[in-house]
Amino acid sequence: MFRNFKSVEKAAYGRGSFDKLGEILEPHRNDGAKYLIFFVDEYFKENEPFIGRLPLKEGDALEYISVAEEPTTELINSLRDKYLEEKGLPSGVVGIGGGSVLDVAKAISLMFTNEGSSALYQGLNLIKKPGIFACGVPTISGTGAEVSMTAVLTGPEKKLGLKCDWTVLNQIVLDPDLIASVPDNQWFYTGMDNYIHCVESSSGQYKNTFSEAFGEKSLAMCRKVFLELDRSDPESDELMMVASYMGGLSLTYSEVGVCHALSYGLSKILHIHHGIANCIAFNVLEDVYGDYVKEFKTIVAKHNIEIPANQSADWSDETIDEMVEISIKLEHMWRHAFGDNWSEVLDRERIKIWFKRM
Ligand code: NAD
Ligand code: ZN
Repeated sequence: MFRNFKSVEKAAYGRGSFDKLGEILEPHRNDGAKYLIFFVDEYFKENEPFIGRLPLKEGDALEYISVAEEPTTELINSLRDKYLEEKGLPSGVVGIGGGSVLDVAKAISLMFTNEGSSALYQGLNLIKKPGIFACGVPTISGTGAEVSMTAVLTGPEKKLGLKCDWTVLNQIVLDPDLIASVPDNQWFYTGMDNYIHCVESSSGQYKNTFSEAFGEKSLAMCRKVFLELDRSDPESDELMMVASYMGGLSLTYSEVGVCHALSYGLSKILHIHHGIANCIAFNVLEDVYGDYVKEFKTIVAKHNIEIPANQSADWSDETIDEMVEISIKLEHMWRHAFGDNWSEVLDRERIKIWFKRM
């Protein structure tokens, strides 16, 4: 086993650290055409006090990102082309939002320096040059995007990340105050993404002590958040924010597995968002993840969350086949879950059965 990854260069943590963003960004304003682009989740558009706290300077750009759809290669290409044409190469980018907006910031930072469509770079180590400075400020916790080496994009053919050392953010600002406003359902779905990262990273052949150390701690924090504390307890958001960071590291040094492979099919074909797609898939995976799925169901019941079930009755055979095709291509996930000879224990029929259970 050999793992050698780049980490986030600087991580600010603490309540109120968002107000230090101006100071943090100041040294990064001198490259290119000397302006920064702030990509902000559209959810904050009407929130004037929040927008008023952004350290915008003359010449900076503020771009609201709708996350109704997960980020696409087309979105990244068009934003990149627009800014290069109108204002020239920025000094850096700042993403403020959930996994979707963080991925936009990560992907566009790379695409400012790599030519052609971002769809050309979906995969491992396909990026040719380092991107420009990129800072991420999560406003919802669980995806681990703030720390991972992936910027997940949906392209014309696949949902797959631009994955390389240069994808990792240069700076992150973790302020637990920012996640307090996340609606309960979304808080649950994205939080469970973290839970599933920890379960999957420790359930497969790539698991190792380094990954497990992050995963075990993250899982313990996640359990405290979802099984012990009330959400209004201030400790809850602090734990969740750090759990997401550690869960992201756990999966970076190992791999995700069956649930993510199925969930990518749901997202690509049916446009179901990552967190909820994972919950739909994990809910039917007791034969793979046993007691973890039982625990997941306890958490679901405790929080009165409705996980969509009996969906497959409305899916045509073609739709299911399309999802199976997306899933089966994610060989690295199957290899992790079932070993190098995964194709001997897994075929399209078995994947189809899981989809039919949903
Ligand atoms: P998201 O970014 O899609 O946002 C979900 C919802 O929460 C949106 O409606 C958004 O407006 C809202 N929201 C965000 N912050 C809020 C706040 N503070 N208050 C109120 N509402 C808020 O959600 P996510 O689950 O964080 O991210 C999912 C995306 O992350 C998917 O595109 C997925 O592919 C990607 N992902 C990336 C990685 C990675 O390593 N890069 C890992 C897992 C998932
Ligand atoms: Zn995930």
